[in-house]
Amino acid sequence: MSYAKIHLDVPLNGPFDYRTNGLSVVKGSLVEVPFRNKKQVGIVIDVSENTNVETRRIKGISSIIDVAPLSSDYITLCRFVSEYYCFELGRCLFVGLPRSIRMNRLGKEYLENVYSLTVSGRLEIAGTLDARARGKRRLYEHLLSNEQTVLADARRIYSNASKQLTNWIQSGWVKTEQRNLREFMKVDRAISVTPKKLGLTESQIRSVDSISLDLNGAHVWVLQGVTGSGKTEVYFELMERALQSKKQVLMLVPEINLTPQLKDRLQRRFPSERIVTLNSSLGDSNRLIAWEQARHGVASIILGTRLAVFTPLKQLGLIIVDEEHDTSYKQIEGVRYHARDLAVYLSQLKNIPVVLGSATPSLETYHNVLRERYKRAVLSDRPLGSLPTIELIRVSRSESHTLSPQVIHAMQSKIDDGEQVLVFINRRGYAPALFCSSCQWSVSCHRCSALLTLHKRPDHVRCHHCGYQGRVPSRCGECGNQDLHDLGHGTQRLEEEVAAQFGHARVIRVDSDSTRRKGSFEAMRQSIDQTQVDIIIGTQMLSKGHDFSNINLVVILGADQALYSGDFRATERQFQQMLQVSGRAGRGSSRGQVLLQTEFPDHPIYQHLIGHSYDDFAIDALKERELSDFPPYSYQAILRASSPSSNSVENFLNRARLCALDLKSEAIDVYDAVPAPIHKIAGLIRGQLLVQSTLRKPLRIFLKRWMKEISNLNESGVRFVLDVDPIDV
Ligand SMILES: [Zn+2]
Ligand SMILES: [Zn+2]
Repeated sequence: MSYAKIHLDVPLNGPFDYRTNGLSVVKGSLVEVPFRNKKQVGIVIDVSENTNVETRRIKGISSIIDVAPLSSDYITLCRFVSEYYCFELGRCLFVGLPRSIRMNRLGKEYLENVYSLTVSGRLEIAGTLDARARGKRRLYEHLLSNEQTVLADARRIYSNASKQLTNWIQSGWVKTEQRNLREFMKVDRAISVTPKKLGLTESQIRSVDSISLDLNGAHVWVLQGVTGSGKTEVYFELMERALQSKKQVLMLVPEINLTPQLKDRLQRRFPSERIVTLNSSLGDSNRLIAWEQARHGVASIILGTRLAVFTPLKQLGLIIVDEEHDTSYKQIEGVRYHARDLAVYLSQLKNIPVVLGSATPSLETYHNVLRERYKRAVLSDRPLGSLPTIELIRVSRSESHTLSPQVIHAMQSKIDDGEQVLVFINRRGYAPALFCSSCQWSVSCHRCSALLTLHKRPDHVRCHHCGYQGRVPSRCGECGNQDLHDLGHGTQRLEEEVAAQFGHARVIRVDSDSTRRKGSFEAMRQSIDQTQVDIIIGTQMLSKGHDFSNINLVVILGADQALYSGDFRATERQFQQMLQVSGRAGRGSSRGQVLLQTEFPDHPIYQHLIGHSYDDFAIDALKERELSDFPPYSYQAILRASSPSSNSVENFLNRARLCALDLKSEAIDVYDAVPAPIHKIAGLIRGQLLVQSTLRKPLRIFLKRWMKEISNLNESGVRFVLDVDPIDV
């Protein structure tokens, strides 16, 4: 009798033993098994003749799910995630799987519609195309040279393909049928890279040359290029080399918004390669298809957000992590992994290079460069134009969020010259606070320890933490006074002020409220690109990776906020963000200008900023971190707990702390349990407990033992999670 050891997507330590029932399962097989009176999808990690479980209690595997087994590299990666981040292996194994597989909802999703020319279509379509119908012609030519085409490919060639194909089907020129994706998986990818060399700058060539010497072996490269220096061109050159040796390339980007543009660029550069994108906005079926094509080597370029790091890629030859400093690489729910760090691990596992690109590398990465654990290539100039000048404008605290006369003047002159202006403020809504003028009572969320933000059109108040929305109160909740004042500036108020100040200018606001509808971000991006707007008011959404060639003035408001933060990472983030947003200026031919309003123009952070000297900033900041034993000079983990009852949270964390003091070695520091920075969110009281060590290994051993103990604490109603290498404390 043989038994399979199987992991399930449950918060329990597996594996669980099941009878194989004569089914031929191997390591990595996906199966369906009974578990607690339900069917569950499981992953086999071992098959053996022995079991330690009483045999009559062992159930049998119900069926095998008809997909190829997961690779052993995939299982090794998940095992690392499980060990390092202290999550059950079962949960880690399922993080990266498409929903259709996790839920065992395969079936018709393995079939897809394909289009091909009929004999008459081959002969007759050409005669119906007039000279102006370029899209139709491209589509026709594509059908001629490809036996079968899926709609997604057809659309890429001609945006109106869906309608056109229907017309041609009606004329009997095109036929459509269903094709089984499984067969499609076997298709070999075409290897014919069209070299479309752009003129590279000298430093780009140098970077490409030095990195490409390392294309065999697990090297970590940091590509530190100033904003607008053309890091993407360097990526493309390196990708080309990997593709030529029949390898796959995984490219991670921080934001879903960046993927469509980048995919277009990639496809133009590598027309014969199949590129798939993997991100959370894909539908289940599309995600499954993309994942399978990536896994079977049909797709050679995989472009995705953090989750894509889990895609099992047999021929992976190069990983690129763009904007590696971006905090969105850290997963903050469920299994709390960091995709950049996993990319580095994956490079060791696969013995391939990884390139971490950024104008402003994270201090962790920068530290590894200084210690010579990572190699660095630098792009210090822009191929087009030069870096913008950054000027500081001294304002009082109360004026820091409104446009100063100097800024208004500069904006007017740019607009008069037909250039675009970006006004950056990292706060959405109309006003962040609503106060009573007589007793200082403020309107706060009844479910969170946080103020409500005033939003307009329509007027309402909203909680940015739990999502609560309500009517604007008409009077003070404390003294009944009807005179409530809104205080401070968000994007909406700024939009109103800008519109009033620049009556004839076309103003657009880009934040997570105005871009909520699908496709609206893309539409706004295009209207900026095509200079249909003069002034853009935006949050950090616009600070990342977008290339706008006509923005020549960037105005930064409210920058000082980070200087008041209690988080030791606040200044790093702020510097990165300011340098990134400044980098939006002057991407075209003329020199850009940045105006930053601050109460503290002499602050060292701003002095480094005006010199564009990220290196000086990083070295200074690292010195401070070293003095206080903060990461990267120490390693941290935070136990986060929440419950409707503050007593339970406190009890739980105190007991966990005693446990830790019992278990810990000398190398480990255990701090006091404290309330989270936002103490209450959505009715749940939140607390946290920090442990830290200057040595990674003892910390890992400790965390593992500690988590085991904690899971037996049984404090009722308390939910907890361990956050290893937290990005906010
Ligand atoms: Zn009052
Ligand atoms: Zn709330």
